[in-house]
Amino acid sequence: MSAPLIDPFQRPISYLRVSVTDRCDFRCVYCMSEDMTFLPKKDLLTLEELDRMCSTFIRLGVEKLRITGGEPLVRRNILSFFHAMKRHLDSGALKELTLTTNGSQLARFADELVTAGVRRVNVSMDTLDEDKFAKITRWGRLPQVMAGIEAAQAAGLKIKINAVALKGFNEDELFTMTEWCAARDMDLTWIEVMPMGDIGNEDRLGQYWKLTDLRARLAERYTLTDLPDRTGGPARYVRIEETGQRIGFITPLTHNFCESCNRVRLTCTGELFMCLGQEDNADLRAALRNHPDDDGKLEEAIRAAIALKPKGHDFDYSRQSVDGRVSRHMSHTGG
Ligand code: SAM
Ligand code: SF4
Repeated sequence: MSAPLIDPFQRPISYLRVSVTDRCDFRCVYCMSEDMTFLPKKDLLTLEELDRMCSTFIRLGVEKLRITGGEPLVRRNILSFFHAMKRHLDSGALKELTLTTNGSQLARFADELVTAGVRRVNVSMDTLDEDKFAKITRWGRLPQVMAGIEAAQAAGLKIKINAVALKGFNEDELFTMTEWCAARDMDLTWIEVMPMGDIGNEDRLGQYWKLTDLRARLAERYTLTDLPDRTGGPARYVRIEETGQRIGFITPLTHNFCESCNRVRLTCTGELFMCLGQEDNADLRAALRNHPDDDGKLEEAIRAAIALKPKGHDFDYSRQSVDGRVSRHMSHTGG
């Protein structure tokens, strides 16, 4: 076993998020503009290259792999990649293989994901209202996602719902969404909207609903108990005593948790971003393609990249302006 990956701030890197495509069948207003230009296929890592890359990270101590995008399940033949990663679950080197999805393709793939060793899935869903869903995702349709969630639960997958907290959009659904999730035995995590990528005419500050305010609203109706649980992510959790479910808060703006960050992100073109909120990245595709038979060179490039992991991001809306903005779309780095 090689020495583990430790960054300059003594944080061990055990979590890799991999964006397997920048494409998506939705166009969520906070994530993409309607007329996105996507990368040419030749720039993408092939599924074999993704395998080699992820396997190298696993050899260097990565224990959790989250597949994301764009929409990971629209990448052709992506299930073969999941099946290939199962060998690392079987060997015990990988503790968890999971994905974040918009749910549109779950009805097709839920059973196969289970066969590949996936046990939990995050499904992003910001509203329970069909019209609002069509509006926020532009191209998405709620019944399709609902069918996906049902199929996933029937296949035995544990579902967590992720919702972006959006002022004037889903504030009025705080309790209905909580109760809908509780009735289906699902945890629910709220995310503060981050200033990533050009999204056309949408207004970031206008979208921003502070999770401190959201939490205070929840506490007016329910008894919230802080939980020590960490899932290797930036979310902090409470339990709602009345329903028993967990509610997560991802608060890059009101409170960042960079000090305990254990993750790095690989894009579909093989760039490694050491922080979601910074522009620094390392081109691992070159190391991979220039040395097809030498994982030592890839390992060297990975270690050099980890040595550059910054302390944290600089997202900040507190001066009534959007600071710390990064130009990449979330779908590029993978949310
Ligand atoms: N397509 C998949 C999905 O929607 O779950 C995976 C990729 S998506 C980029 C991952 C997560 O990022 C989603 O939960 C989405 O809501 C969130 N997201 C996208 N843009 C965001 C932004 N600007 N701020 C906060 N969260 C964002
Ligand atoms: Fe697609 Fe996910 Fe971005 Fe929505 S949030 S546009 S589903 S990548």
